[in-house]
Amino acid sequence: MASYHDVLWQTFKEIKDADISDEAVQLLMLELCNMSHNDLYLHYNDEMPEDLYKQYQDGVKRLLNNEPLQYIVGHQWFYGYQINVNPEVLIPRYETEELVANVLADSDYYFKDREEITIADVGTGSGSIAIALKKEEPKFRMYATDISDTALKQAQENADFNECEVTFYQGDMLQPLIDRNIKLDILVSNPPYIPVHQEVQKSVEEYEPHVALFGGNDGLFFYRKIFENAHKVIKEHSFMAFEIGYDEKDAIVAELKKHFPLDRYDVLKDLNGKDRMLFVYHNLEE
Ligand code: GLN
Repeated sequence: MASYHDVLWQTFKEIKDADISDEAVQLLMLELCNMSHNDLYLHYNDEMPEDLYKQYQDGVKRLLNNEPLQYIVGHQWFYGYQINVNPEVLIPRYETEELVANVLADSDYYFKDREEITIADVGTGSGSIAIALKKEEPKFRMYATDISDTALKQAQENADFNECEVTFYQGDMLQPLIDRNIKLDILVSNPPYIPVHQEVQKSVEEYEPHVALFGGNDGLFFYRKIFENAHKVIKEHSFMAFEIGYDEKDAIVAELKKHFPLDRYDVLKDLNGKDRMLFVYHNLEE
């Protein structure tokens, strides 16, 4: 058998003309072997065990077929937590960690003295947002909804895996909360927001669940649905936090104003400098 070093360099040669990066291949090796970068360098010249080698070769083949690394290794890291994924759930994105960070900051600012804060993640998918928020802020009474039973199963598994208490409800957007008369201090959502006809990366198009990606002709379908019904679930003093598409700011704000004309709002950029989050403050003083 060959050493980790030789196996890796052999692959680098093989993928030279392919559309995958050296970094993806190296990450595949690290995740399969459960190693950090440091571990790998320390063991660079050791022989790679046969079973890992087989899994690795299989993984490289799948990468070459545009399959996302996260589905191959079965997880993604999100806000420091391991979130297991399968093709029924969207892979958590780095931008969404920024949504989580800003919700935590605003919650601290507006609800500092509260003992319990009721919050829901609408369209939770893998559960990443709900789990990260609850882990970071134990004062949250955390609810999460999703229309997909298979997504919820994965989300519940992730919550258990991370020893995290989240109450999951199956249903369409806000409906499970409306049905149970739950009133929120904070509503969070990263709904599907890509316009149906917009082109997306091959790996996204071919492997990720379309139900979690596409938001109708203009990408706004789910924001409309939430804005129309949000009055039924948010408390008198509350805020809403959304991830949005980088080019959807004006259209979403216009939609928001139809239902919440008096509320203060803020559009925040992600680390790439793109409009990515909408925060709406409902009767909360700055
Ligand atoms: N940001 C994701 C992407 O570009 C889309 C996530 C979503 O629709 N909420 O693939």
